[in-house]
Amino acid sequence: MKIRIIGKDWTRKLVRPVLGDDSGGCDFDKCLIQQSTDECEQQRRDTLAHEIFHAISDSLGLKVKESETMALGCVWVQVLRENPELVEYLLKEDE
Ligand SMILES: [Zn+2]
Repeated sequence: MKIRIIGKDWTRKLVRPVLGDDSGGCDFDKCLIQQSTDECEQQRRDTLAHEIFHAISDSLGLKVKESETMALGCVWVQVLRENPELVEYLLKEDE
């Protein structure tokens, strides 16, 4: 899967194992997000959102803490999943 983040094309790969015991990881130099195949699909979505926030934080030099990235990833996926009208609005092209 390719993911465009702040002007760069990132690649998301499912691998086993990921870095140490982590369920996911970002390689900023390679624009690569790796995720463990051991997670269930729902957890993978949360982990992917978490890693995307890491990529955004690093790209913008925000220095977001790990705990903040965890919360942002999980909550953002929940907000998108439970608000299809919002997603449709956000994705709508300007007229
Ligand atoms: Zn993390």
